[in-house]
Amino acid sequence: MSGMVIIGAGEAGTRAAFALREAGFTGSVTLVGTEPHLPYERPPLSKPLDGLVRMKAICSAEALSAAGIDYLYGISATQIDAARHNLLLGDGRTLSYDRLLLATGARPRRLTCPGAERALDFRTFADADAIFSRVMTGGTVVIIGGGLIGMELAAVLRGKDIGVHVIEMAPKPLGRAVPPRFSARLQARHEEEGVHFHLGQGLAGIGPDSVVLADGTVVPGDIVVSAIGVVPDIGIAEAAGLSVGNGILTDAYLRTSDPHIFAAGDCAAVAQPGGGHIRFESWCNARSQAETAAHNMAGAAETFGAIPWFWSDQYDLGLQVTGLPQPGHRSILRPLAQGELEFYLEDGRLVAAAGLGAGNSLAKEIKLAEMLIAAGINPDPADLADPAVNLKALLKSARAA
Ligand SMILES: Cc1cc2nc3c(=O)[nH]c(=O)nc-3n(C[C@H](O)[C@H](O)[C@H](O)COP(=O)(O)OP(=O)(O)OC[C@H]3O[C@@H](n4cnc5c(N)ncnc54)[C@H](O)[C@@H]3O)c2cc1C
Repeated sequence: MSGMVIIGAGEAGTRAAFALREAGFTGSVTLVGTEPHLPYERPPLSKPLDGLVRMKAICSAEALSAAGIDYLYGISATQIDAARHNLLLGDGRTLSYDRLLLATGARPRRLTCPGAERALDFRTFADADAIFSRVMTGGTVVIIGGGLIGMELAAVLRGKDIGVHVIEMAPKPLGRAVPPRFSARLQARHEEEGVHFHLGQGLAGIGPDSVVLADGTVVPGDIVVSAIGVVPDIGIAEAAGLSVGNGILTDAYLRTSDPHIFAAGDCAAVAQPGGGHIRFESWCNARSQAETAAHNMAGAAETFGAIPWFWSDQYDLGLQVTGLPQPGHRSILRPLAQGELEFYLEDGRLVAAAGLGAGNSLAKEIKLAEMLIAAGINPDPADLADPAVNLKALLKSARAA
């Protein structure tokens, strides 16, 4: 077999290119990316060291070349001809493929209020550079959207002594992915640090130096950043006739409705055992889906079943969530010296866990919680709540049972 082509040189696309080689694939691997840089990590964009945005490359040019990966950067794939197994590039070239991976990621959701064009996005290195090169000590930034990216940006800006207003339509920030205990703690920490929240508020419009809320309040700001979430980049897939919904639909093998085309990362909505499709937006998900897709492109038949995991850094606090905590789950708190861990049970079974503590201090506990979830245990809630009960010992007895 020859000719693997990957569209999108983000976390998923780049990881898939290397994973193809690690799986022993010796034919050609071509990675096509719109952005004009080496593939880079997005998470550090909202966690700049010393307030400086640095590009952290996923790999070097030498590593790409040593792995025999042909990296075409600053070029978009514009059209897929699924019947002929080829795709058109923005520079007029055509590439043919035996297997194609769509790793097109996601793009910022656009505001629709008057003056929306004044708001800066926050997704790419160019976006981060535009924001951080314009902010000035003593200035004020209005962040629209109190999700993870908006709140991480707020923390970084407060560290640079920049005034921050966060406008959020929901009654509290971080409502979507973060369990209530930890979203409340993070909100309180932001308030202590001087972030002004405007919650339960829609936008009337964005002016040259202020944002006007639906209730008429004027929030002054030198810069407005839109952080209202992303939408999966499905355009090229849809135009090629592939099945799409909230993402490019795949089966459990990460195959799209065309068996020669796979999808992974923020753009992919993967079939679930109980029906329906789920799309995740996280670094870890992009990497693990990329590996499964690459293996299957190279001839394996692996189903994707990794437990979701993500982290977020705000001030000196590190949040980690594994599994998908839901409002209906029973929550059990385990206080720890370095922070708090919460476990989530569904009908007695451990299905998720989350922790908030200093820096990366809860990483070991979260990893053990993930292994306990994978073991499919119905733990005694008293054991989960008791910090004296060792999670490793629980795992050992669960495995023995
Ligand atoms: C500021 C920021 C901070 C984050 N922090 C965290 C964090 O702390 N923890 C966490 O778990 N996750 C975090 N994430 C999310 C994580 O970075 C993403 O989930 C991950 O990058 C998704 O990788 P991906 O490869 O699927 O998509 P992307 O990273 O979006 O890459 C897709 C690439 O495909 C390119 N592309 C699209 N269409 C085409 C085309 N037609 N032709 C060629 N190229 C194309 C795009 O230009 C893009 O470069 C963060 C994201 C951002 C933006």
